[in-house]
Amino acid sequence: MRVTFLGTGSAMPTGERFQTGILVQADGRTLLIDCGAGSLQRLQQSGVGYENVSTVLLTHHHLDHVADLLPLMKARWLAGEEYLEIVGPQGTKALVDELLEVYEYMQDKLELQVREIVPGEFSVAGFDVSAYETRHSLPCLAYRFGDLFTFSGDSEAFAGLANFAEGSAILAHDCSFPDDVDVSNHPTPDSLGRELADREIGRVYLTHLYPHTDERHDEMLESIGAHYDGDVRFAEDLKTVSIE
Ligand SMILES: [Zn+2]
Ligand SMILES: [Zn+2]
Repeated sequence: MRVTFLGTGSAMPTGERFQTGILVQADGRTLLIDCGAGSLQRLQQSGVGYENVSTVLLTHHHLDHVADLLPLMKARWLAGEEYLEIVGPQGTKALVDELLEVYEYMQDKLELQVREIVPGEFSVAGFDVSAYETRHSLPCLAYRFGDLFTFSGDSEAFAGLANFAEGSAILAHDCSFPDDVDVSNHPTPDSLGRELADREIGRVYLTHLYPHTDERHDEMLESIGAHYDGDVRFAEDLKTVSIE
């Protein structure tokens, strides 16, 4: 499996990191998780291209995870692609319907399949996936791909999510802010380190980074490392990780 971080930023721009988008590929199958602003550009830069993304899996409906959904639809339509599947938590159908109500000219341009999922097991784009409800300001799902890859979506750090991720070769986890930012609905390095302590995880990539984290990477890693002694790194846009 190959996981490519298209966007490792968040709702406030750093000038370098686009909003959330993660590409998961295996055996010719391709799945885009989230489609925040910049995903379309990064897809092109990644060499995969929007033509090859026919399924999008959403963690939740915040703008920084869905902003490029309509632009993806439009680009696919212009390129002569006829189909797009959009899978996400409850409310995804209403979200897509309402976006298309605002952008009326985009109606009926693509054959859209929209599917809502609940926590538990499901299949998407040929991948068997588990979904787990996170702790965030909107209903949000974390996704796990067997023993290979888990993505936290947006979430506070908590034991249930750490349990869900345990045993993954790669975990991509929200780590939005450094410790001195008073935050709910997202982790700080200290809270993430505490929840990851003693978990068996191959490697952790920190993502969903606000500009507050610029120049603070060393201290954030130290803060996590005070509790968790595993391999932790910062994700970067267009970084690809191969997972065996
Ligand atoms: Zn969010
Ligand atoms: Zn977000």
